[in-house]
Amino acid sequence: MTFFFSDTVPVTTGTVSVAFTDASIDLGDLAASAVREAALDEVAAATGATPYVMHQVHGTTVHVVESPVDGPAGSVPDADALVTSEAGVALLARAADCVPVLLVAETGHVGAVHAGREGVRRGVVPAAVERLRELGATGVRAWVGPHICGRCYEVPDEMRAEVVAVVPATDATTSWGTPALDLGAGVLAQLADAGVRAVEVGGCTREDDTLHSHRRDGTAAGRLAGVVWRTP
Ligand SMILES: [Zn+2]
Repeated sequence: MTFFFSDTVPVTTGTVSVAFTDASIDLGDLAASAVREAALDEVAAATGATPYVMHQVHGTTVHVVESPVDGPAGSVPDADALVTSEAGVALLARAADCVPVLLVAETGHVGAVHAGREGVRRGVVPAAVERLRELGATGVRAWVGPHICGRCYEVPDEMRAEVVAVVPATDATTSWGTPALDLGAGVLAQLADAGVRAVEVGGCTREDDTLHSHRRDGTAAGRLAGVVWRTP
């Protein structure tokens, strides 16, 4: 497996790697268990770390991973953000059009966040940044992964109004002239408000066939993942 994007960041406690998978593997819960297990094995091999997934519920719960061995074979937490100060654990935020966000602190703390429409409206990304800082993280930076773009993510007018009322930066119109939401712009605005410098990793999931997209592929769509891990 090759990552859609990967980079490394020196931190005070080693090196943090950030990466996003592509459609060559399917990390979704709807994938056959053998397919998903194989995908997780590929992530483990590529990272040299233990993959840790969450059961994503479009909420704002941030789960602190205390040890690489408490998942994923054990219980999978209901959460939309994972944070840790541990090395050797690869945190996964899975998505197919939603925004996967990876957080890296100069202190070595890392986080992975799943931000869809509800997550953006409810502020899961700022919640994860706040939790990281409570754990002692400083110098937090973000990588905002591939997601459906504002020209593709059509929503009903009242749904757009509901989200734009809370996060004005999400206001968008599709390329065919109907109401839309730009979730990536919303996440970038939330990160800027939280004082976090962000890097955008390109690619509209709906337009790029090498990425998984729910809007393009329907309920059978696979899931890509943002992956972040620290090596001592
Ligand atoms: Zn697009």
